[in-house]
Amino acid sequence: MRLKGKTLLITAAGQGIGRASAIACAREGAQVIATDLQPGLLQTLAAETPGVQTRMLDVRDAAAIEALARELPALDGLFNCAGFVHEGTILACDEAAWDFSFDLNVKSMYRMTRAFLPGMLDKAEQGASPSILNMASMASSIKGFPNRFAYGATKAAVIGLTKAIAADYVARGLRCNALCPGTVDTPSLRQRIANAPDPALAEKNFIARQPMGRLATVDDIAPMVVYLLGDESRFVTGQAVLVDGGVTI
Ligand code: NAD
Repeated sequence: MRLKGKTLLITAAGQGIGRASAIACAREGAQVIATDLQPGLLQTLAAETPGVQTRMLDVRDAAAIEALARELPALDGLFNCAGFVHEGTILACDEAAWDFSFDLNVKSMYRMTRAFLPGMLDKAEQGASPSILNMASMASSIKGFPNRFAYGATKAAVIGLTKAIAADYVARGLRCNALCPGTVDTPSLRQRIANAPDPALAEKNFIARQPMGRLATVDDIAPMVVYLLGDESRFVTGQAVLVDGGVTI
C-alpha cells in the first residue's frame, strides 16, 4: 500500500494512461478522484475500481476547476494528464489549432495547479510530501518527430512549467515532475492509426520508433505515476522522467 492515506486527483482518467494510473493508485491504497469529460467512461471506472470516486471535469473550464478545488479536501497528489495530439507541421497549424493545443495541454495545468496548490502547500506545512505530476511526452519535446509541431511545443512548455513550479516550491516541501512516455497503446493512439491513409503502415511506423519492438502498454507507464506521486520519490523534483522503452538511448 504505497499510497495509503493519500488523496489524489487525476485529470483525463476516463481512458488510456490516466485511467490505468487511477486504477494503479487506488490499488496502492490512495483515495483517487478520477476526472474526465466523458461520463460513460467514468461510470465504468468507478464500477470496476474500489477507492476511485469520479467527477466530470473539463480542464479547459476555469470556473469548474475552481469550484471543484473549493469542494474537495486538500490533495496529496495531482496528476495533470489531459492532453491532445495535433498532427502536422507549422504550416498545417493555424492559430485556432495552436491555441486549442496550448489551452488543453498547458493552460489546463496552470489552471489546475493554481486552484489546488494552496491546499497542497498547507499539507506540506503539516509534514506531508505533496507531489504534482504533469504529463509531457518523449515525442517531440525530448526527441523531435515530424508532424508534431504544436504537440512538441506544448509538451516542451509542460516541462518548463514543471521546472518553474518545482523551483518555486522545493523549499516548502512540494514536488513537481513531468512524465515523458514513449508511444503508448491507448484509444487515442488507435484513433490516430485508424485515421492514417494507410493504418497498417502507420502502426508499423509507430512500433518501429520503439527500439524494444513494441508499443508501451498503459501498465508500463502507471508504475512510474505511482512512484512519482508517492513518498518513495521524495527526493525527486523538477525532472522530466522518461519511460520510453529506450527511444532516447
Ligand atoms: P487518450 O488520449 O486516449 O484519452 C484522453 C482522455 O482525455 C479521454 O478520456 C478524454 O475524454 C479526456 N479529455 C479530453 N479532453 C479533455 C478535457 N478538456 N478535459 C478533461 N478530459 C479531457 O489518453 P492517452 O493517450 O493516455 O493520453 C493521455 C496523456 O498522455 C495526454 O496528455 C497525451 O499527450 C500523453 N501521452 C500519450 C502518449 C501515447 O502514446 N498515448 C505518449 C506520451 C504522452
